[in-house]
Formats: sequence, structure tokens, C-alpha cells
Amino acid sequence: AEFLAPRLRRVRPSPTAAISDQVRAFTASGFDVINLGEGELDFDTPPHIKQAGIDAIVQGDTKYTAVAGTAALKQSIITKFNRENGISYRADEVIAGSGAKQLIFNALLATVSSGDQVIIPAPYWVSYPDMVALAEGEPKIVPCLESHGWKLQPEDLATAITPQTRWVILNSPNNPTGAVYCAKELKALAAVLLDHPHVLIMADDIYEQICFTSGEFATLAQVEPRLKDRILTVNGVSKGYSMTGWRLGYAGGPAWLISAMQILQSQSTSNPSSISQAATVVALEQGSEFITQWIEILARRRALIMNCVSAIDGLSADIPPGAFYVFANCQGMLGKTMPSGEVLSTDEDFAAYLLTSAHVATLQGSAFGAPGYLRIAYAIDDKRLQEACDRITRACDELR
Ligand code: PLP
Repeated sequence: AEFLAPRLRRVRPSPTAAISDQVRAFTASGFDVINLGEGELDFDTPPHIKQAGIDAIVQGDTKYTAVAGTAALKQSIITKFNRENGISYRADEVIAGSGAKQLIFNALLATVSSGDQVIIPAPYWVSYPDMVALAEGEPKIVPCLESHGWKLQPEDLATAITPQTRWVILNSPNNPTGAVYCAKELKALAAVLLDHPHVLIMADDIYEQICFTSGEFATLAQVEPRLKDRILTVNGVSKGYSMTGWRLGYAGGPAWLISAMQILQSQSTSNPSSISQAATVVALEQGSEFITQWIEILARRRALIMNCVSAIDGLSADIPPGAFYVFANCQGMLGKTMPSGEVLSTDEDFAAYLLTSAHVATLQGSAFGAPGYLRIAYAIDDKRLQEACDRITRACDELR
């Protein structure tokens, strides 16, 4: 441990990776664990996209490319932003990287230093605060309320901004709550941000396609073009195209920022996989007709898990309009006694109880900055999901 750099003391391992490790350990000991902890769709990558990856290999598309992505990929990113979001970017205003995660990290590392604050509305994606800490900045967590649909309120944003604020991170549809900001709500946040020209805004749109009300999705650069040169719009193919393993994300933003991210990338990971880039060109160009069917399947699963949650005394949740998570209030469970005689005192205890007694993996809300909640990822096969619901119901029935 004495060899470790001080910056590593500022971060914790990703709790989502930790739960996957636990699931593997339980499974290895012979238990049949149902994993509702992972942020991943169970759908296969669509065949025409897979084929594009195979074609790329066969054609020898297997060498270094330009660091920020091939000209063909950049063009399809530009076209995507134009067609689907009404935002126009030039080629020097877009970049592809090895996942949205890498792009967010590079953007923060390129701009945040000691003393800088980054506003992160809670509940938040687990990686934002740790990435800010790695960049030596200070995460400034702004709690959002369940009663506000988990959405950042303009007056809370205004109060949180200081002269030290470097970024505000917005994520819609949201992980872990599934909240979706409509254009009007973004406009109200934009009105605050227009008054603070020293603040950059990250729009993490990675769940764009996973919206249950079609036409509801909006993104800040589209809603308020006057902010465009301060916004980094982050997206990727992981969620909407079920391509998590391909590691391909992209972003659009001001040329100075894209260029800085590109420099970091050039000295660390270089270009994202040439094969994934070729497949992403096809993914973005051919659009996503399959998404309609995916949304139908996900809506059915969402109904299943919502029924389960609402029927259990001590659990509750509003129907999440986006992503594939239910963020359930489990405060009514705390204080109850397990069959072992021990008392559940935190959301972490409750998640651990579900894992050890029901063999269902979920994630405690405190990992997302919201203690007293439980994130349930429901993007798994219907039968397994029903089985998970039955197990959760039984385990909760055994609490006194
Ligand atoms: N942003 C959010 C909110 C996420 O939930 C995730 C993945 O879980 C990412 C970004 C990262 O996506 P990628 O697989 O493109 O790195």
C-alpha cells in the first residue's frame, strides 16, 4: 500500500463492480443468484451491428485510427446529433472514446483541478464523484427529492453555484432513478445557467433511447442553444444498442474542450477499438427500429417489478419514465427484524439481506448518494424477473 499514489486514496472501487464480484462469488459457491444489480440490458447486440464488426475484421479494419475516431464515425455522430437532437457540431467538435465513461473522465481530468467544485445532483451515477475526486476537484452533491420526481430544481441549482463551480452534471434519463427531464424543465435549469458563464455543463444522455414516453427526451444543447459552447453532450451505444462490451461512447462540445480530451486520449488509450467504431457507424446510420420492441419488453418487465414493489409493505416507488431501474423507497423496511434476530438498520443491510437470504442482488441507494433506497435493475428475462420478485416477496414476508 505504501506504493500507492495519494490520488488513489480519494476513490473507492465502483460499487456496481463490487456487486458483480459478490454475485460471481455466490454463484461459484453453487447458489442460483438473480442479478438485479447490473446496469446492462440482457438483449443481444442487433445482428446487423454485429455483422458490421465482423466485416471490419475481415476487411482489415484492425489498425490504429485517428485518436478521436475515424472520419466516417465522426460523420455519423454529427448526423446523429443533427437528426435526433437538432444540434449541429463540426468535425472538431465531436470525439469518440472507449465508452461514455472514458469521455466523462477525460473531460473532467482536462478541466478540473484543486479547489474546483463539480455540482452533482443526487441520486447520481456512482462514478461521477470519484472521477471528480481523481481530478482533485470537490464533488458538490445537491440532493434531489423523490417528491420532485428526483429532479434538480432550478432554485437548488442556483444556490449550489459558487465562483468555484466548474461543472454541473445532468443525467437524463437518470441512473439510478429513471427520471427524465422534459424540455421545459431543462429550459428552467438553462435560465439559471445563463447567469453563470463560468460554469460548464455535462449532459450525460447515455440512456437517451430508453424512454417510455416517446418524444419526451430532450437535451440541454438543443433546448438552449445559447449554452451550446459550454455544454458537453455525452452519449454512446452501450445502452440504446445493447453494446456495453464494445466500449464505444461519443461526445459533442466546444472545440477547445474536445481538443483537450483528445490530447488526454492520445497519451493514454488512443483511439477506441477500430472494430467497434465500424460497428457504431452502422448502428448510428441504420437507426434503431428494434428499440420500439425493446421498450415494449422493458415496459412489461417494469410493470412486473412495480407490482412486486407496490405489494410489499415497506417498499414503494413511482413508475420510472426512463432507463431500466426502479429506485424503491425501503425506509419502511428499516427497523424490521430478520429471521436471524438481527435488525435491518440501513439500506445496505437490506440489500445484503436480499442477497444472502433470497439470492437476489440489488444495490443500496447509499451507493448513489440516496440512503434509504434500493436500485433494482430489471433488464433481465421475464421468467427470471418473476422468480426474483417471488423471492423478494418471500424474504420480505419473513421480516418482523
Ligand atoms: N453514464 C451513466 C449514467 C451510466 O449509467 C453509464 C453506465 O453504466 C455510463 C455513463 C457509461 O457508459 P459506457 O458504457 O458508454 O462507458
